[in-house]
Amino acid sequence: MSPDRRAVEAETVTRLQDLIRFDTTNPPGNELPAALYLKTALEEEGIATTLLEPVANRAALIGRIRGTGASRPVILLAHMDVVGVERASWSCDPFAGEIRDGYVYGRGAIDDKGMLAANLMTMLLLQRELKHTGAKLSRDVVFVATSDEEAGGEWGMGWLIEHHADLLDAEFALNEGGRTRIIEGGQTYLAVQAAEKISHVVAVTAHGSAGHAAIPLEDNAIFRLARALEKLSRYAEPVLLTSITRQFFGRLAEVWPNAEERAAMLELASSEKASVERGAAVLSRTAVFNAVLRNGISAVIVEGGTRYNVIPASAGAVLNVRTLPGQSIDEVVARLRTVVDEPNVTVEITQRGAEAPASDPDSAMFEAIAKTARELNPKIAVVPYLSTGVTDSARLRRIGVQAYGVLPFPMQQSDEERMHGHDERVPVESLHFGTRLIHGTIEKIAR
Ligand SMILES: [Zn+2]
Repeated sequence: MSPDRRAVEAETVTRLQDLIRFDTTNPPGNELPAALYLKTALEEEGIATTLLEPVANRAALIGRIRGTGASRPVILLAHMDVVGVERASWSCDPFAGEIRDGYVYGRGAIDDKGMLAANLMTMLLLQRELKHTGAKLSRDVVFVATSDEEAGGEWGMGWLIEHHADLLDAEFALNEGGRTRIIEGGQTYLAVQAAEKISHVVAVTAHGSAGHAAIPLEDNAIFRLARALEKLSRYAEPVLLTSITRQFFGRLAEVWPNAEERAAMLELASSEKASVERGAAVLSRTAVFNAVLRNGISAVIVEGGTRYNVIPASAGAVLNVRTLPGQSIDEVVARLRTVVDEPNVTVEITQRGAEAPASDPDSAMFEAIAKTARELNPKIAVVPYLSTGVTDSARLRRIGVQAYGVLPFPMQQSDEERMHGHDERVPVESLHFGTRLIHGTIEKIAR
């Protein structure tokens, strides 16, 4: 390894450790000190920054390397806040950035301070190269670090778009939201999120006569609710393939180790109805695949009753319904009402998610990501991906930015599952892979 590369890798690890050591647990967030750290790092390299403070001790930090303006800017986005920790369940201090067995440990190591560090390193490396060669980029590269992503983004991307949308004018953005997964047999696939499901809240409420529990009543609201939920538990929305899910399964089949599932993926990617149905039946058995094949319905809260000898007049449950892009929540709810078919049970939308368009899985940006990934690992499969989770990318897509989500660090599922869990960690080697992936992608798209 060249001394240069070794120095860059050491700096990357140190930057990540530094970022983990800012406790940005949200709530309350307290991201300002981390933003000031990023500001200093960028400015020391000669990169112009803008620090915005939406509310006390919270911040958005923007850094910009100017290009010639031949093309519209590209954004490198990451959030500074992290979710809370249950310290007793960690084997180390979650805010120390400890290195052990080839991993950097700490809250945020993979969500999202790893990417924040990789984005920062990309900015520093680009600026150093430009200084060295005197070359110019074809477009601005805009570093954006936000607050409050983990609590809905009201003081983060939401605020930024509302008050400073001009700073976010861009053709493309790279954000969290995908994955680089090492699967059985050592194969790796990179899922690049190009669209996401939309999250809605739906209330199921049963009404009945209130009364003394000593006199059982036929129209007991809790039993009514139970019957409604039992019917919903057996209901699944129809399979619906978007062009992104078709490509996702078609390309994933190239590396998928399980023969039956591989065949099912190819069937799903075909255009024959019978094949698609056969493929969907097999893949629906796996929860994560099932979730991208149809609108999803999860019961999340149930409430009703006050004491042991009173029949309540009502009982309710809350459903989280996640629709595929372009699907109408009103039509889903109309179907749920038909399924429930109980007297005095209502099904109502209480919170509607906002629709966002998909990013183009054949764009120059997607190609730049895929090409860089293959340079780093010739056998990697790069697949467009529709995520079931929600990220800041939906907000960017709504203002016309084609956002793509990655988690650029190759990991086994077991490591990825530590996200939001205990002993979150990133393999040091994967941190370097991810930094090279982002750096290489930006070099290509901003050349
Ligand atoms: Zn995140």
